[in-house]
Amino acid sequence: MTIAEILHRAAGRLQAAGIENARFEARLLLAHVLGCTPSDLLRDGAKAMDPTALEPLLQRRAAREPLAYIVGYQPFWSLDFLVSPATLIPRADSETLIEAALALPPPARVLDLGTGTGCLLLSILHERPGGFGIGIDLNPDAAALARQNARALGLADRAAFLCGHWAAALTGRFDLVLSNPPYIETGVIAGLMPEVGGYEPPMALDGGPDGLDAYRAILRALPALLTPAGAAVLELGAGQVESVRMLGFAAGFVATVRNDLNGIGRAITLRMA
Ligand code: GLN
Repeated sequence: MTIAEILHRAAGRLQAAGIENARFEARLLLAHVLGCTPSDLLRDGAKAMDPTALEPLLQRRAAREPLAYIVGYQPFWSLDFLVSPATLIPRADSETLIEAALALPPPARVLDLGTGTGCLLLSILHERPGGFGIGIDLNPDAAALARQNARALGLADRAAFLCGHWAAALTGRFDLVLSNPPYIETGVIAGLMPEVGGYEPPMALDGGPDGLDAYRAILRALPALLTPAGAAVLELGAGQVESVRMLGFAAGFVATVRNDLNGIGRAITLRMA
């Protein structure tokens, strides 16, 4: 079969499985199998190849496993991050936190709570060469993967990753605390799109009955974690601006909110009042 024919068939399979950008994803999967770029495929459409190697990847994607777990990485900010089923897949929405953090004075010490792939901490360290950071995750496999990402991005000498429950094992204060905590209401998770509900780690998604459990835990710890002029930048789920602002207010913080590209309040910046 030619590459063009294989792509056409693969896109049809993915579309039938309910995947929206079926042609685009088919190209990414085939490029991954061949170790080339998607644009190489357009150029080589008339070349013949054996489609067998693509088959297991197509089957996984048709079963709605996220593309990022199949190819093993996901771009975020300007960087590529290794991902695994131990970690949430970095989202473009979370880049709002990077924008919000870059609007603050350059931090010397950064903490990322629930670091997953390490994408938040490592993107900030990449932009702020004077910073040093600690990323914490409850899942040791996530902390190990974040460490691998730090090495791959040349940031290992400025980033340490630890396994722990929020900041329980830490002493010391930070100029910037980042977190994209689990914030989905427990009851909603089963109804999420299959890629999320069926494959991403529940621990990275589940925010308890009202979705706010992690914010309560983080806000309890925050006063002892921030330097006097420090700030926390936390991700919010859709519709959570007012509840998290009130939780922050009750803990002695004032808040500003930054919207994502869809106009949803996505990043809340908290400072001591
Ligand atoms: N900090 C990581 C991210 O933003 C993981 C977040 C999480 O697991 N909830 O992708």
